[in-house]
Amino acid sequence: MTKPFIGIPGNILRGLNETQGLPITYTPQGFIEGIQTANGVPFVFPISSPEDASYYIDQIDGLLLAGGQDVSPSLSGEEPHLKLQATEPARDAFEMALIKEALAQHKPILAICRGMQLLNVMYGGTLYQDLSDYTDLSVQHLQQTYFSTGSHSVTLDPKSQLGRIFGESYLVNSYHHQAINVLADSFQAVAWSKDNLIEGFESKDTEQSIVAVQWHPELMLKEDTKMQRLFTDFVKKASISY
Ligand code: MN
Repeated sequence: MTKPFIGIPGNILRGLNETQGLPITYTPQGFIEGIQTANGVPFVFPISSPEDASYYIDQIDGLLLAGGQDVSPSLSGEEPHLKLQATEPARDAFEMALIKEALAQHKPILAICRGMQLLNVMYGGTLYQDLSDYTDLSVQHLQQTYFSTGSHSVTLDPKSQLGRIFGESYLVNSYHHQAINVLADSFQAVAWSKDNLIEGFESKDTEQSIVAVQWHPELMLKEDTKMQRLFTDFVKKASISY
């Protein structure tokens, strides 16, 4: 049996003491383990020129977008908010080119946290650059509890792909200070926090497989089989589509 290849665009770390500040390309280990447990073969991509996106996408069967820096506000024509954290415009540009190419080649996308926010901005949606701008905020979205522990609940559309995994309500972890404000037209919200922020969306176009979550399943999957199932379902889709 052939295993599908899953591409994970990596992040870059600068100023790490252990490497005397030498820049390091990486992805969090949880993504690797989620894909490997699902019988996929993970590939970590370095941030590269957007013009090379098709070379990367040609090699893979599914695209997994990881968390990381804030999405650049300039992508939605906004000035940086006072509470904006570090951005990486080169990563934004490369990942947007990968998304475009993955969709052109009908390869499934699973987007986590920043990946979800970038997709939304790319397709014309907007973000709260910082949750302090969200007037109905009443849930802690930057949890202090250990990362593998769910902290806030989400309500899900039971008919959605996420709803079929997690049911109508589920406890998820939460590490975001930005969130979706206006959702892009291409997507359908399928999961919400109790203070009504969008915690998950899927593509409206059923020919195109996009599943996006605001939480971090890669940090919970060792203890929580439903979090692993998110990766397993994604790898299965990738193996069908090639
Ligand atoms: Mn949250």
